[in-house]
Amino acid sequence: EARREMREALRRVRAEFGRHYGLYIDGAWVDTQEKIQSLNPSAPSEVVGSTAKAGLSEAEAALEAAWRAFKTWRDWPQEDRSRLLLKAAALMKRRRRELEATLVYEIGKNWLEASAEVAEAIDFLEYYARQALKYKYPSVEVMPYPGEDNESFYIPLGAGVVIAPWNFPIAIFTGMLAGPVAVGNTVVAKPAEDTVVIAAKVFEILHEAGFPPGVVNFLPGKGSEVGAYLVEHPRTRFINFTGSLEVGLWIHERAARLAPGQRWIKRVFLELGGKDAIIVDETADFDAATEGILISAYGFQGQKCSAASRLIVTEKAFEPLMERVLKRAERLVVGPAEENPDLGPVASQAQEKKILSYIEIGKGEGQLVLGGERLEGEGYFIAPTIFTEVSPTAMIAQEEIFGPVLSVIRVKDFGEALEVANNTVYGLTGGVYSRKREHLERARREFHVGNLYFNRKITGALVGVQPFGGFNLSGTDTKAGGPDYLLHFLQMKTVAERF
Ligand code: NAD
Repeated sequence: EARREMREALRRVRAEFGRHYGLYIDGAWVDTQEKIQSLNPSAPSEVVGSTAKAGLSEAEAALEAAWRAFKTWRDWPQEDRSRLLLKAAALMKRRRRELEATLVYEIGKNWLEASAEVAEAIDFLEYYARQALKYKYPSVEVMPYPGEDNESFYIPLGAGVVIAPWNFPIAIFTGMLAGPVAVGNTVVAKPAEDTVVIAAKVFEILHEAGFPPGVVNFLPGKGSEVGAYLVEHPRTRFINFTGSLEVGLWIHERAARLAPGQRWIKRVFLELGGKDAIIVDETADFDAATEGILISAYGFQGQKCSAASRLIVTEKAFEPLMERVLKRAERLVVGPAEENPDLGPVASQAQEKKILSYIEIGKGEGQLVLGGERLEGEGYFIAPTIFTEVSPTAMIAQEEIFGPVLSVIRVKDFGEALEVANNTVYGLTGGVYSRKREHLERARREFHVGNLYFNRKITGALVGVQPFGGFNLSGTDTKAGGPDYLLHFLQMKTVAERF
């Protein structure tokens, strides 16, 4: 039934290829002269759709509208704000298959990945709607003090900016804007250039849900132009960013500077990259480990911040594990995303080029045992690739490749495995396959990542179940989908009255 629905949705979305969307500012759709086109990575000659392209004057208007809206939105009863988020979640559910099909065409996810992502976007809306009720006035317990009435409560920050990546263009985009908005802030949201159509559909839904004008504004545009302008703008109160380490560090630095007329210190939240490892020791269930490794390394073509890109294997586990991994990986099917293969195309020509250049580097650093090439076809298809005998300090073991490339590092024992695993600037996710309690306990203490998975097939996170965010240069560890996430977008006010 689900498969039939999906085929039908793919047909419908294909029939509307080329549709154009505006910017969404102050509750109205606005067109501009220039546009951003979104291509199908499985067949880049196909234009999935387009949006208007925001320039600096539109950014100015959006921030202006967001501050105007803040004056009333901040005082809405929390129940009413939460109800709008739930309404948006319900509308998203109704359009679920269409949104999934849009992800298939716009970014090359297979059906399973697309469906998991839309479910995550819905979860974010529902979870933050519920969590927001926690911070209702007065909500903070303080010690009693004789002769005084003391109270502390949370108020929102103001108008902020959301800047999103292309790899979870509905879940992360929706989550990053829903959190601050849930607790009374207003936002200007900039999607990634490659995924403007799905983002426009999110705004159709927010519009239909009935958010007041100016509370949520949609500003597709170029990162280095309109994105940078918003980051440096004196009227930006906070920045919620998910993307690469390089851009994140730039934003962190620029946002720290005081722009003329600016009256606050901007809050900056960064969710950045990873160089995630799975460790397998000699006591592991090798079949389960194999399945987990393939899903983590090759799900959405390895283009996830949570994807395993290093496999660290103890000496005695190496032969039996690699035999299974290679046998299974050889059978993975790569093809156009609409045909629901194991791996679809990588996201864009730029990504393809970057991944292929790392594969070339890898050929000099390790032993290529699988893939290592671009596949036939118009789309950006790259074969699942494995390098063995990789040194822990090799470039392909240190830098985020963000593609279907796995570097296998052989170590003598579990202690060395942990050392190698931690030898990176990142610290986002990690996995361990072992049946030895001691090893798991040691990893629990020493494996320095925000999200650690033991004998578990998937290394991504469920909203509300596994708060998600990394250590070290993986970001500011804001824990999206966690119980304290909304606190980042609130400030505490304290009032003391003498009686
Ligand atoms: P990116 O950094 O290239 O772009 C992210 C966003 O920043 C885009 O919207 C882009 O237009 C914008 N941008 C670019 N330059 C800018 C500037 N100077 N000022 C303001 N905005 C600017 O990242 P990407 O390629 O879209 O996404 C992939 C990266 O995101 C990977 O590194 C991945 O690990 C990371 N990521 C992290 C998480 C997490 O939760 N930690 C989740 C998903 C993706």
